[in-house]
Amino acid sequence: MFQPAQIEKFKQLQTPFYYYDLELLRKTLGQINNYGLSKGYEVHYAIKANFNFEILDIIRDAGLGIDCVSGREIERAIEAGFRPDQIAFAGVGKTDAEIRTGLDYNIYSFNCESLQELEVLNQLAGDAKKTANVSIRLNPNVEAKTHKYITTGLNENKFGVNVEKLPRLFEMLPKLDAISLTGIHFHIGSQIKDLDPFVQLCERANAIQNIFEEKEIVLQHINLGGGYGINYEDPDNEPVPDFKSFFEVFDRNLEIRDGQQVHFELGRSIVGQCGSLISQVLFVKEGINTHFAVIDAGMTELIRPALYQAKHRVDVLTSKKEKKVYDVVGPICETSDTFRKGIRLPGLQRGDLVAIRSAGAYGEVMSSGFNLRDRVKAYYSD
Ligand SMILES: *Cc1c(COP(=O)(O)O)cnc(C)c1O
Repeated sequence: MFQPAQIEKFKQLQTPFYYYDLELLRKTLGQINNYGLSKGYEVHYAIKANFNFEILDIIRDAGLGIDCVSGREIERAIEAGFRPDQIAFAGVGKTDAEIRTGLDYNIYSFNCESLQELEVLNQLAGDAKKTANVSIRLNPNVEAKTHKYITTGLNENKFGVNVEKLPRLFEMLPKLDAISLTGIHFHIGSQIKDLDPFVQLCERANAIQNIFEEKEIVLQHINLGGGYGINYEDPDNEPVPDFKSFFEVFDRNLEIRDGQQVHFELGRSIVGQCGSLISQVLFVKEGINTHFAVIDAGMTELIRPALYQAKHRVDVLTSKKEKKVYDVVGPICETSDTFRKGIRLPGLQRGDLVAIRSAGAYGEVMSSGFNLRDRVKAYYSD
């Protein structure tokens, strides 16, 4: 939680703003190193979760690679000092220009999401007189037990290639001479707290690997994507996700061949807890059953509550008054611009500061200029 000296500093700054605790980020990366990297697992940080250079610098120094989903993200990763051979590029709708960006840099892997994309990549790589390393994103049809908008590994989701299409892939491969199929890729969804879907993912990956081996295709790597969840209800009790338990699922359940590399693409679990959105109470309005605390941050700074019905913890930084029930709402002209409904908080008044916690992932990066709002600022603990 925030120390009094920190809160005094916040009072000097114009709200709303993001505040990042870089010590916590380093601690989190330390755990990933202890339980993942040191065991030989490769971890690519999903840069879409937060692409601030201050954050990327620390992640690069910790030895992680990058998972991109756009051409601009590839450029950003390179600008931040990552090597091209550390960059994977996923995405269901890569443009020709974005594919060329990846080819120009000779990135580590294109994670292809459709058979048509393979053909286009083959054409563009051939034109560039290059061979593109490809990992085919397969749809394992595993239920991630998370919000439906962040479930990605079911047959009805738009992502990846369904396993039924594998015979067609095997037919096509010999003709695709500018492509080298080096791995398989999965990503079943996000904010997955229950480890069971990851166990199922391992079982599906084992079965799928056997299908490739029957065709005498040696997979150099298996990429299991990201999706590990964080504790939004009680971030102070679990500031660093339990990476020991996460990686143990794969130690126990994934059948790895000699020399095969295992990759992960973690986003939220790396940066989620290190960021808070700091905001000020503008008005307190009496409602019928509740009080409305109207704050100066809204869905334009943090859209997750409006988009995914996400509940972020709200901490009051400047009041210890008797608790009351509040709806904490933003200023934007949308009813969905509501952070929390009916929560008990210390009595609020105009000018009080609140921290919306666990906002480091998919927070600032999803901010918008709706209502012609100013772009939200960021400050760092260092
Ligand atoms: C978004 C994404 C990730 C990261 O997901 P998290 O839930 O933030 O860990 C990994 N891989 C792909 C392909 C993605 O699109």
